Amino acid sequence: MTHIVVLGSANMDLVAYASRAPGLGETVTGREFRTAPGGKGLNQAVAAVRAGAEVSMIGAVGSDQYGAVLRASLQGAGVDIDLLRTVEGPSGTAHITVDDEGRNAIVVVPAANGTVESLLPGDETLIATADALLLQLELPLSAVVEGARAARRHGVRTILTPAPARPLPPELLAATDLLVPNEHEAAALTGIADPHGAAEELLRHVPQTVITLGAAGSLHAARGTDPVLVPAPVVDAVDTTAAGDTFTGALSVALAEGRPVRDALAWASSAAALSVQRLGAAPAMPYRKEIDAL
Ligand code: AMP
Repeated sequence: MTHIVVLGSANMDLVAYASRAPGLGETVTGREFRTAPGGKGLNQAVAAVRAGAEVSMIGAVGSDQYGAVLRASLQGAGVDIDLLRTVEGPSGTAHITVDDEGRNAIVVVPAANGTVESLLPGDETLIATADALLLQLELPLSAVVEGARAARRHGVRTILTPAPARPLPPELLAATDLLVPNEHEAAALTGIADPHGAAEELLRHVPQTVITLGAAGSLHAARGTDPVLVPAPVVDAVDTTAAGDTFTGALSVALAEGRPVRDALAWASSAAALSVQRLGAAPAMPYRKEIDAL
């Protein structure tokens, strides 16, 4: 079975729904409150496991009640968490306000995630057994770079989601096989708003990139080939939270299975299209048989 390792964040999302977000110094009365497991690492791990891979997650949760919930949620999804650390103190949290127009305002407190500054003994051994390593930027950059380099040493494909957007050090780009930004991240990284132009610039630093374009689909570009725009299925989107993580999780599984990249993109687009038709992040992610059926 395909084995994917995710080196990334796990957060508890604390979501308040209100008519509008409060201004500075202001209190507004909300309508509803929900909690849900999140964080880009956890989301991509769940997406990949549902897409049919064996998935292990490296990262950290806190010793608080949220840490226990996050562990249980990953385990319940079938993700191997043997190397997920529990550190003294709080888990990562995302404090989210969603207004009546569906717009959100978010404060993320990394907490336990921020303690993952380097790999531990055992992490590299696990990474070495993987078909792909998924990385994002919600852990300290030092650990992300170390993880990517460890994967490289063992010939393991590295797939990096550059979110939240920030400048990428050359040593991280040098260890990245596939960069998967959304259009905003691609523009932030390159200073080029047009996705084709941004892709061309990114190819100076990485051999292959996929820029996700929301309902417009995704743009694949690799050195030495013509870029191709893969359209997204036309669907009624009700919640696009974690659409990108669903896409990347499914894409990594298809690529690790050896499917041609364009087939893999179409399959990942189907997975993401299914997820946007349902509410929530991880709960909205489709299972392999649903993706195949679309
Ligand atoms: P984004 O992070 O918004 O670029 O979305 C990631 C991927 O999710 C896209 O490349 C699409 O495959 C899919 N997706 C996002 N929004 C929609 C939508 N409204 N309809 C269909 N697919 C979508």
